[in-house]
Amino acid sequence: MAAIRSLITGGAGFIGCHLAEQLLREGQEVYALDNLSTGSIDNIEHLKGRKGFHYVIDSLENEHLLAEMIDRSDVVYHLAAAVGVKLIVESPVNTIETNVHGTELVLKHANKKRKKVIIASTSEVYGKSTRVPFREDHDLVLGPTSKGRWSYACSKAIDEFLAIAYWHEKRLPVVVVRLFNTVGPRQTGRYGMVIPSFVKQAVQGTPITVYGDGKQSRCFTYVGDVVKALVALSDHPGAVGEVFNIGGGREITINDLALLVKEKARSSSEIVHVPYDQAYEKGFEDMPRRVPDISKINHLLGWRPTIDVEQIVEKVIEFQRAGTRLEEAAAV
Ligand code: UDP
Repeated sequence: MAAIRSLITGGAGFIGCHLAEQLLREGQEVYALDNLSTGSIDNIEHLKGRKGFHYVIDSLENEHLLAEMIDRSDVVYHLAAAVGVKLIVESPVNTIETNVHGTELVLKHANKKRKKVIIASTSEVYGKSTRVPFREDHDLVLGPTSKGRWSYACSKAIDEFLAIAYWHEKRLPVVVVRLFNTVGPRQTGRYGMVIPSFVKQAVQGTPITVYGDGKQSRCFTYVGDVVKALVALSDHPGAVGEVFNIGGGREITINDLALLVKEKARSSSEIVHVPYDQAYEKGFEDMPRRVPDISKINHLLGWRPTIDVEQIVEKVIEFQRAGTRLEEAAAV
């Protein structure tokens, strides 16, 4: 049987590059498309030259190219997006346009060629909901349009609506996944993500910056677990037309996370609290708790996360230390 061919938009991004590895491990042919806006060529350096791996550095907006790459593929994983709360607060126009227009183009061309699409959405869509744990059929509770952060959730909710509309109206097979705080090696702290940021601070001995009072909590999910769920969902006929939470693990407050990172890195960094207004923008609203209900994906696939937050932190510390060792060696 010929190998399955998968297109990953955002293939040089943090999740995209791990997904590419997983698909190659499973013997698939992988096409990665990325404009390197938030992704990085370093993320796919080790995949270049690997049998079955192909990549193009260009934008989704190059429609001829996108159509051609979709045509060559059996499945499309649409991961290209503007992500990270810092990025969203700083560049709301780019976030909205990238997330809405990119998905529009992918669905339009996938529909022309009748190719299955996996759409990456986010736990942000639950917004300020306090109905924890979040289930896929719960209401989404978003803040006012005057607060930039909500543009991300809203843009992703539109992506979800559009994908599901393609399924209902045109019978295009789509699967929507809501990813919860996915973390692991190669994630950058540049766009505000907390674990790579804390690890960097702890390793460098600079203050660990906890935003707000630190009592807000998250469930962190290892990227290796997440990409396995994506591949399994793409393969399962029962997933088509459905929305799935992907996440889980132990709920941990950001204060406890800071202590955990400090301890695991054997760091002498002090832990400081920074008001939200200073960290993001005036009037910034955070979610107090973000916990997924994963019974839907668990019932369908038996999937649940296998790597806990302590192991995740250890892996990220090891990754960053290895990067520093390489830089030091190069400088000699
Ligand atoms: N956070 C923090 N310090 C940082 C970066 C983030 O305290 O340097 C907090 C952030 O305010 C949020 C949590 O950590 O409450 C998770 O942030 P992240 O941006 O990783 O993901 P989010 O859950 O906000 O999408």
